Amino acid sequence: MSEFTQPNLRVLLSAEQIRVRIQELGRQITEEYAGKSLLLVGVLKGAIPFTADLLRAIDLPVQLDFIAVSSYGASTKSSGEVRILKDLDASLKGLHVLVVEDIVDTGLTLTYLLDNFRRREAESVRVAALLDKPERRIKEVAVDYVGFPIPNEFVVGYGLDYAERYRNLPYVAVLNPE
Ligand code: 5GP
Repeated sequence: MSEFTQPNLRVLLSAEQIRVRIQELGRQITEEYAGKSLLLVGVLKGAIPFTADLLRAIDLPVQLDFIAVSSYGASTKSSGEVRILKDLDASLKGLHVLVVEDIVDTGLTLTYLLDNFRRREAESVRVAALLDKPERRIKEVAVDYVGFPIPNEFVVGYGLDYAERYRNLPYVAVLNPE
């Protein structure tokens, strides 16, 4: 059966809904960062599709970088410990940084990244997240640009995986047990 029509997937956000919302976010970011040196930092791997689409929806000179992080594992999750697997290529000094995340859940990853980036002398650090699960927050963290608030369900697609699968779906779906 095609990856796109599986019975264990329930579409939450269609490819068209995602496209329209990213155009809106792009326009807003274009207005708010006019005249500033903007750097998008995509958080690997889940934010790849969102970063690629948001980048093209911003009508300004913009630089691009990526960071890969991993949390130390479920048992220590509440500690908020995060490991950098791949660091940024260049300095943040003097740049207005927009961190691009796939989803903000507990907020632990984002809290770590924001603290880390603010120590690197960026002019400003803000966040764009395609999805936000506010119910699950452990650490309060301000998300400046939210694509869609969603309920507390495990989602896949449009970059988000389950055991490295489903990242290539063009939509976001709730994954139900088989
Ligand atoms: P946080 O530190 O906010 O709890 O974690 C954010 C990360 O957890 C996301 O970047 C993502 O990798 C993962 N995550 C959180 N919720 C979901 C979900 O519903 N589906 C998937 N596939 N990953 C999630």
